[in-house]
Amino acid sequence: KHYPFPRSVRQWVGNAPARVLRAVDDVDLTVESGRTLGVVGETGSGKSTLGRLLLRLERPTSGQVLIDGSSPDTAGAARAHQLRRDVQVVLQDPYTSLNPYLTIGSAIEEVLTVGGMTSREERRARVAELLEQVGFPAAWSERKPGQLSGGGRQRVSIARALAAGPRLIVADEPVSALDVSVQAQVLNLFQRLQRELDLAYVFITHDLAVLERIADRVVVLYLGRVVETGPADALFAGPAHPYTQALLNAAPALGRSRSTSSAVAGELPDPASPPAGCTFHTRCPFVMDVCRTTRPRLTPIAGGLQAACHLHEGSTPDPDPPATP
Ligand code: SF4
Ligand code: MG
Repeated sequence: KHYPFPRSVRQWVGNAPARVLRAVDDVDLTVESGRTLGVVGETGSGKSTLGRLLLRLERPTSGQVLIDGSSPDTAGAARAHQLRRDVQVVLQDPYTSLNPYLTIGSAIEEVLTVGGMTSREERRARVAELLEQVGFPAAWSERKPGQLSGGGRQRVSIARALAAGPRLIVADEPVSALDVSVQAQVLNLFQRLQRELDLAYVFITHDLAVLERIADRVVVLYLGRVVETGPADALFAGPAHPYTQALLNAAPALGRSRSTSSAVAGELPDPASPPAGCTFHTRCPFVMDVCRTTRPRLTPIAGGLQAACHLHEGSTPDPDPPATP
């Protein structure tokens, strides 16, 4: 049985830029239960591709996605079914991810039915519980998505994801369509649910300020490659890569920057034919000759960070961080 992904998820797959397939080259990422891995990048960075790989909506050309060390590809049918339910998704647009004709109660109930909950009573009780978990009275199960605000609909999407009993939620720009005050409420909800249910999150966004609030670790993608990764506190205290520095300068506080694409100087090159050498060299204020020809490798630097930048090559993760220009 397949989990009935809502229409918007199918669009999310359909819209996949088939060419941006270097996406997530070299990435070896781990996310633990109760923790949030933040993924940030501009359009074309490959961040949604990473999400689709995790949801197994796209196949990696190499490498693999393991949940608790097993892959649904090699697990037995029952275990594979469980592993697929372990990973659920919340998308940006709460306006299209819910069927406007279904009550929110039925939308949630559908997931329970697919999960094998045969008793109607049991499903009803569970729907009430899930609605309460996301901050709604149980009586709201009779409402249609059109009767809710954007933030309300996002709460329903979250309840629907929770109905599958996931251990990992992939959230792709889950607050980007919401007003700033509502963003904060929905982020609070994500944080509360994480504590209560020990959920792991992969939080995909163009807005570093959102990650400053929610992420434990951050991965910065640029044109399909990891340019910097490490613990969130170290990254926000002293970003090592010029691209992360530019993103951070552009995102002073939650909600103040709505678009990284306009925030970083210079134009984003075509992801299908990225520049040679360091792919950021066309926009980097520190560009050197070597940057145009040689691709920098991810190098460990201070604070547990890793950055792919020639400025940091040869540096070692010692207590004195290397001087950054
Ligand atoms: Fe800038 Fe060179 Fe570092 Fe790339 S490798 S980010 S171009 S300094
Ligand atoms: Mg995207």
